Amino acid sequence: MKLDAAVLPRTAALAERLAELHDVASAAGLLAWDRETNMPPGGSEARIAQMATMSRLVHRMTTDDALYALLDDAAAEVAGRAPDDPAAALVRVTRRHVDDARCLPEDFVRRRAEISGRAHPAWVQARADDDFGAFAPHLAAVVELGRELAGYYGYADDPYDALLDRFEEGATTAQVRALFDELQAALVPIARAIREEGRPIDDGILHRDYPVPAQQAYARELARSVGYDLDRGHIGTAVHPFAASFGRGDCRITTRWYPNFVGAAIFGTLHECGHAMYEQGTDPAFARGPLARGASSGLHESQSRTMENLVGRSRGFWEARFGNLQAAFPSALGDADADGFYRAVNKVQGSPIRVEADELTYNLHIVLRFELEQALLRGDLAVADLPAAWNERMVALLGIAPPSDREGVLQDVHWTRPSFGYFPTYALGNLIAAQLFQAAVAADPAVASDLAAGSPAALWSWLGEHVHRHGKVYRPADLVVRATGRPLGVESFVRYARAKFGDVYDLAL
Ligand code: ZN
Repeated sequence: MKLDAAVLPRTAALAERLAELHDVASAAGLLAWDRETNMPPGGSEARIAQMATMSRLVHRMTTDDALYALLDDAAAEVAGRAPDDPAAALVRVTRRHVDDARCLPEDFVRRRAEISGRAHPAWVQARADDDFGAFAPHLAAVVELGRELAGYYGYADDPYDALLDRFEEGATTAQVRALFDELQAALVPIARAIREEGRPIDDGILHRDYPVPAQQAYARELARSVGYDLDRGHIGTAVHPFAASFGRGDCRITTRWYPNFVGAAIFGTLHECGHAMYEQGTDPAFARGPLARGASSGLHESQSRTMENLVGRSRGFWEARFGNLQAAFPSALGDADADGFYRAVNKVQGSPIRVEADELTYNLHIVLRFELEQALLRGDLAVADLPAAWNERMVALLGIAPPSDREGVLQDVHWTRPSFGYFPTYALGNLIAAQLFQAAVAADPAVASDLAAGSPAALWSWLGEHVHRHGKVYRPADLVVRATGRPLGVESFVRYARAKFGDVYDLAL
């Protein structure tokens, strides 16, 4: 990030130092990208060493005393500037990042790596064997790490606050709990009504024969057509799809391809495009600095969900584009139509598995994890009692009793690390997406008319103006208020879900 050295000499010097840190962190990120996409298996051992060295280097640069002194000087220099002044925002964001890195004792960082390193393979094995007992001691150690971590970060009321704040700056457990309580009160009856009264939807057409090369060609064209700039982007293949950016000129995505399921390619591509297009849209002035990122995990997820769900699972999108899809897969879709495809991709799955859940019930899977994570951290719930608590809440929230722990408490990788507080950002993303969408539709009539014609262009341009270009300048809650005129609530999402699933299921919800 370039600042005028004549006006802000110390902050400009800080920005220069941060640019170097950004270069090294990007190079480290590229090693990780390559590991997931291109690296031959034989490279694994050397890559572990390379990545460990790079991460030590990044840590050393982040916790460097000279950088800290520069940060203090810059803070004095920008004092009194408005919070949305980019120089002030740069200092705020850097302060958070540096303090987080400096507050963790080396011994803790080492133990965290060791415990998580052992917990991951133990989880893989326990899940394969459907044996929660084998994972339980590892989870207990991870929960203990989470408590310790919260202590280093510091908190006023609730240890969960400290962890949540890492992913969603400024959010508190009490706020999220209030939102989620309201959300579950609204969604549980909707999901029940669909379960009990909705006419069954057959999504078999998604599971026909879809040749992978045709999927790859289609996904590329799909990404381009929704506005993903492929001169500043790239689509790779990975087992667990993700987006990774190395500056706004290089925002990449990965997708996975199943020969008998086209949904992963279409919606995975759209989802990751949303993430990548957020960062492609940041202000060029923020290049090589920490502001050229999404405002928070929740905001980031809001943009991926917007592209995947609000755009990609909308009726207009498929009415306009089904012909193209059919032309790409004539043997699979020769006898299908746009309405059937739209319903199939919006089927409410009623699955015990989070990643298989639909747009509606997905949020309830998150509510469950949010509740249980807090109970574990507070010590209100013993690890040994977790499977029973999980199954009980699944029945209450989703009406589903998981047939096994493999399809229940053991399904997610997240608890092999002390990353408590991350799960809620998935559902916050859905809420933010719906609220931004409603504001965009109200502000510009072209948003709805473009979408009805299958194009997110006007929507994305509104989001670019109100969200993307600002990068990390605003705190997430402030950005939402600024863009939509009110604090984050559940109304937009609930209204959207009622209309959408009422249409899909021909129900008055
Ligand atoms: Zn995502």
